[in-house]
Amino acid sequence: MVLRFALIVAVLAALSCAIDAQVASESPASAKPGVRLELTVPPASPVVRRYNDTTYALYFTNVAWSLLGLLVFIRLRFNLRLRDALQQRFRRPMVRAALFFAGLALWTAIWALPLGFIGYLTERNYGFATLGPGMWLTDRLKHYVIGLIEAPLVAAAYWLIAIRPKMWWLHVWFVLLPFMFVGAMVYPVLIDPMFNRFTPLAEGKLRTRIELLAAQAGVRGATIEVADKSKRTTRLNAYVTGLGPTRRIVIWDTTLATLSEDEIVAIVGHEMGHYVLRHVWWGLVAGAVMALVLLRVLDVMVRRLLRRYPHIRGPFDLASMPVAFFAIAILLFVQQPIAASFSRAQERQADAFGLRVTGLNKATAAAFIRFVDRDFADPDPPAFIVWWMYSHPPIRERIASALNGSPESQ
Ligand SMILES: [Zn+2]
Repeated sequence: MVLRFALIVAVLAALSCAIDAQVASESPASAKPGVRLELTVPPASPVVRRYNDTTYALYFTNVAWSLLGLLVFIRLRFNLRLRDALQQRFRRPMVRAALFFAGLALWTAIWALPLGFIGYLTERNYGFATLGPGMWLTDRLKHYVIGLIEAPLVAAAYWLIAIRPKMWWLHVWFVLLPFMFVGAMVYPVLIDPMFNRFTPLAEGKLRTRIELLAAQAGVRGATIEVADKSKRTTRLNAYVTGLGPTRRIVIWDTTLATLSEDEIVAIVGHEMGHYVLRHVWWGLVAGAVMALVLLRVLDVMVRRLLRRYPHIRGPFDLASMPVAFFAIAILLFVQQPIAASFSRAQERQADAFGLRVTGLNKATAAAFIRFVDRDFADPDPPAFIVWWMYSHPPIRERIASALNGSPESQ
């Protein structure tokens, strides 16, 4: 729970420095069409509008649905039953806490299935998802099992709440920090390969150009990998991930298959911006600060919420875990605008860096336009949606910045 909370904060802030915002693709068959002559974006077509409005609605519905799931868990007294059953069978409190977490996480994973499936069907209906329902379900199962890594941390948190009832949040934060940083470091080498195959970018003209660009950009010894994302999606993307020795730039194979060489170089230039400016690192630092604030608030929130549940003995009682999950979900939702604005600032920096180092303003704009045409990126998202959840500046703004003052575009 706590690790998930911190990791989500960190991940929102930094880990996924993707090039595109909320985007997907229209048709995988439209490979490598020529760059459009007019570098402008018309208003969204009805289908693009409908797709984006559906994804926004799904996001907010998901938050409400997950909160409801926790209330149902408490209402059905599953928290008391599970606590008592574990108490009878296991003597060690840490083991009981870890197993309680596994049980509650299983409940939330199952509860999330119907809405998750609607999200999957939406992606399929618009032609973006290429994976079948079996693979979709297997992915969900893998995510559940991977999430169990958090169990020891949750057990440690409950131990700390019991022995340090006033300052537990600070102690938990100290335990959390190494988890966050080690997690960010090992994620690309331990977790990502469970879902995709990563191979070095093949030798050739593109690789030579990227290596030259890396030297120019001041990137030394960067690992550039290709992920076989086409087995799951037709969307385009690239991102920077990892920390220290595991730092790398990842390009999706869909991007390689679809964009022109100049457009790919333009996008890699943007990713090199994240790399050189150490955005993953700064995202983690921001995530750590945010985690401390949220843990402090969490302590107050859980104590207040527990007044409504007299049958739960206190924050140290395992039966309080769904209440804590509930509070964490609200806190994560409320901090979303802060994380999103932090991320947007980083994305603007990376855009500026990419344009400076590549000089490929037109190709950058053309790649962004491809996100609208092919991936249904919202050309005119509502201001509130941008403020609340956009990790990237709206695509129209990015296109305008790319074309502004470009020697190449004049
Ligand atoms: Zn980015």
